[in-house]
Amino acid sequence: MAFEGLADRLQSTMQKIRGKGKVNEADVKEMMREVRLALLEADVNFKVVKDFIKRVSERAVGQEVLKSLTPGQQVIKVVKEELTELMGGEQSKIAVATKPPTVIMMVGLQGAGKTTTTGKLANLLRKKYNRQPLLVAADIYRPAAIKQLQTLGKQLDMPVFSLGDQVSPVEIAKQAIAKAKEEHHDYVLLDTAGRLHVDEKLMDELKDIKELTKPDEIFLVVDAMTGQDAVNVAQSFNEQLGLTGVVLTKLDGDTRGGAALSIRSVTNTPIKFVGMGEKMDALETFHPERMASRILGMGDVLTLIEKAQANVDEEKAKELEKKMRTATFTFDDFLDQLGQVRNMGPLDDLLKMIPGANKIKGLDNVQVDDKQIGHVEAIIRSMTKQEKEQPEIINASRRKRIAKGSGRSIQEVNRLLKQFEDMKKMMKQMTNMQKGKKKGFKFP
Ligand code: GDP
Repeated sequence: MAFEGLADRLQSTMQKIRGKGKVNEADVKEMMREVRLALLEADVNFKVVKDFIKRVSERAVGQEVLKSLTPGQQVIKVVKEELTELMGGEQSKIAVATKPPTVIMMVGLQGAGKTTTTGKLANLLRKKYNRQPLLVAADIYRPAAIKQLQTLGKQLDMPVFSLGDQVSPVEIAKQAIAKAKEEHHDYVLLDTAGRLHVDEKLMDELKDIKELTKPDEIFLVVDAMTGQDAVNVAQSFNEQLGLTGVVLTKLDGDTRGGAALSIRSVTNTPIKFVGMGEKMDALETFHPERMASRILGMGDVLTLIEKAQANVDEEKAKELEKKMRTATFTFDDFLDQLGQVRNMGPLDDLLKMIPGANKIKGLDNVQVDDKQIGHVEAIIRSMTKQEKEQPEIINASRRKRIAKGSGRSIQEVNRLLKQFEDMKKMMKQMTNMQKGKKKGFKFP
C-alpha cells in the first residue's frame, strides 16, 4: 500500500495537535520533529525534508495560525498545503499539439515499467480523452519488448507500429509519425529503448529521437519502489534530455513514498501519472492535492467518484435502481455489482479514499480481502439459474450442493443467503415507505 508508514506516522502526529485551542512554538517544534522523522523514514530526500520543515514551521508559528480560532486544525491545513506544494501544487495537464499528432516520448530504465505504462497511457488517452493513439515499438534492444507492446496493443485493440529490431529507432519514429498523420492518429506514443543503467549511448540515441521528432512531451518512467535511486535517475535524464513529466510506477507496492515526495522538488519536473498496478487501467492522473489528502487520512472522494464513473455502466445502474425499487433484485444482479466494484481496484485502496475511514472503529485495521469477493462469486456461480432468481427454493440439500460446488463451507453459503434475504427485505421496506409517502402517510 502506498505511503503506509508515512501516512500512519503523520496522522498520529496530526491527531495530537488537531484539537488544540492554543498552539505555541514549542508545540510546533515538537510536531515538526516528528514530521521530520516521518519524512526521513519514508526515504524523502534529506534536503527536501529540511526545506519542507522550514516552510511549515515558519507558517505554523505565523499570524494565520496564531490568530485563528482553531490553531490545531490550522497547522494541519498548513502541512497539507505544503505537502501539496511539495508534490507539484497544481495537477499538470498533458500536452496537445497545435498540429496533430501530439508526440510523446516514453523513456526510462529497463524494468521500470515503460512498455506497460505506454500501453496504460494509450488506454487512458482513449478512455478518458477520446483520443486515437498510435503505439510505436522503438525499443529494439530489450528482447521481447516489441512483442510485449504488440500483445498489449492486441489486448487494448489498438494499432502498434513496428519495423522489427533491425531498423534504427530514429527511423522507426520518423516513419511512425508519417503513418500517424496519414491515418489521423492524434497521439503517437514512442516506447523507446531502456538500459540497465543510465549510459551515454542510450542518451545519445534518445537525444537523436528527440531532435528528429520534436516531442511535445518526454515522460520518464521510474519505479517508485527504488526510492531515492528513482530521484537520481530522474535528475540525470532531466539534465540530458529535458523531461516534461515523470510517471511513477509501482506506487501500489511502495510503502514509503520517498520518490513521490522528492522528485518534483529535486528535478523540478512534475509527476504526471502514477502506476497503481499491473493491469491496463491501473494508471491514475497525479493530483498533488488529492495525494496529500490521502497521506493525511483525509480521504480522496474525487478519485473515488471518478473511479465509479469510469467503471459503473450508467444503463445498468438505472436498471438496477429499478430492480431495487421493485425488489426484483436477483443473485445475478448481485454478481454483476460485485464485478463492477472489483473493476474499481483493490478494496483496501478504495477504503482509504473515504474521508475518516481510518478513524472509524474497526475499520482502521480492517484488512479488506479481495478474496472474499471471490468466495461470494464462487458461491453464486454454483447456483442454478432458478436458484439465482428464486433463492427461497434453496433448501438444505441444495445448500450442501452449492457449498461443495464452490469449495466453500455450508456456513458461508447460509450467511450469504441470509444477507441477501435481509437486503431484499430492506429494499421492500424502503419501497413501501416510498409508496406510503406517495399516499400521504406520515411516518413518525
Ligand atoms: P520496461 O522494461 O520498463 O518496459 O518494463 P515493463 O513494462 O516490462 O514492466 C516491468 C514489470 O513491472 C512488469 O512485470 C509490469 O507488469 C510491472 N509493472 C509496471 N507498472 C507497474 C505498476 O504500476 N504496478 C505494479 N505492481 N507493477 C507494474
